[in-house]
Amino acid sequence: MIAISLLVLLSGGAAAAPVSVGSRIDALLKQTPLVDGHNDLLLHYLTEDEKGLLPATAYDIGKPTVGQVDLPRLRAGRVGAAIFTVGFMAEADREKGIRDSTGLFRELAARHPKDLTVVTDGAGLRAAFQAGRIAALLGLEGGDQIGGSLALLRAAYRHGVRAMTLTWDDTNDIGDANAGAARFDGLSPFGVEVVREMNRLGMLVDLSHAADATAFDVLELARAPVILSHSNARALCPAPRNVPDALLRRVATNGGIVMVTFVAYFTTREHWAWYERGDAYWAVLMARHGNDRPAARKDMAVWEAENPAPPVRLTDVADHIDHIRKVAGIDHVGLGADFDGMESYRIAGLEDTSRFPALFEELARRGWSDAELRKLAGENFLRVLAAVERQALPTVAP
Ligand SMILES: [Zn+2]
Repeated sequence: MIAISLLVLLSGGAAAAPVSVGSRIDALLKQTPLVDGHNDLLLHYLTEDEKGLLPATAYDIGKPTVGQVDLPRLRAGRVGAAIFTVGFMAEADREKGIRDSTGLFRELAARHPKDLTVVTDGAGLRAAFQAGRIAALLGLEGGDQIGGSLALLRAAYRHGVRAMTLTWDDTNDIGDANAGAARFDGLSPFGVEVVREMNRLGMLVDLSHAADATAFDVLELARAPVILSHSNARALCPAPRNVPDALLRRVATNGGIVMVTFVAYFTTREHWAWYERGDAYWAVLMARHGNDRPAARKDMAVWEAENPAPPVRLTDVADHIDHIRKVAGIDHVGLGADFDGMESYRIAGLEDTSRFPALFEELARRGWSDAELRKLAGENFLRVLAAVERQALPTVAP
């Protein structure tokens, strides 16, 4: 790209050669692990065989995959660490579901020992980065997976889980979600216990997907900083999954971070409106076809051909990062792409895990310093993780 090669930075003495923005980003991502707050790689294992777990050999991440995530592209994207989602399994025996999915992820990492390793704390994450491996923190998406039981939350911790979104897109026994009926006007009494126990264990409380009221309630009682692992700014895109400015400011006073997601319908107003229209039409089609999905899908394809998706670009994501920085501050922004967890539309320029450096180049062109880019990449997240670990209390016997 011409713009990249023209934009140069003089380093040091008068005779120093100009440094391209690309090599500047390359150098800073060698110093600081780039942490992606939300990666749904494991969904591929769990959705391709509804009867049960596929073996860790079934989907080879050692070479390019059909999805958005694999080791070659994680490497090209300079990813140092990510929170990989585990769980998903609606087993009658919930602990078995958590044990099987964390076990599967460990097996997957064990097949690529030079590239990927499961870590359970900040020290482990840094050690993996120093050793040239991608560090995987394991996270649960949707607190209903602990089945209303603090014992199961502790069991998840023992299986290596270090983060959990309190809800997914539906209200549960922990609290209200961004979608679905409001039952508690925020956090439930059980949710209060869950947040206290997560703080005590030293787990990251993740407020992505929670209702605003739930998030504000958590921020009143949390003893440690929180994360929103994959959420954008509502001022720029009105999806209820996004974070209003008042909540951005409240997360800042808590010391937490909002990690910007690359999901198109959480990024621009136009794409969100298109997505909402499509969603409503899908419901109409499903009713018309008596829930016959293939038949509804055929009609939906016609609608999509007649109503093309409004394009979303890398610069639109950069706008969210700039907005969160402006409202919450440079210490309270991070990245949580949601690769392999988004529907088919991909943002131009941010199509898969190889594309992170392009986003850093855009921000560098907008005037971000190396120190600021390092905070966004991983230093803010590592600060939050360290604070969560510091206030954790020694684990009691389960
Ligand atoms: Zn999510």
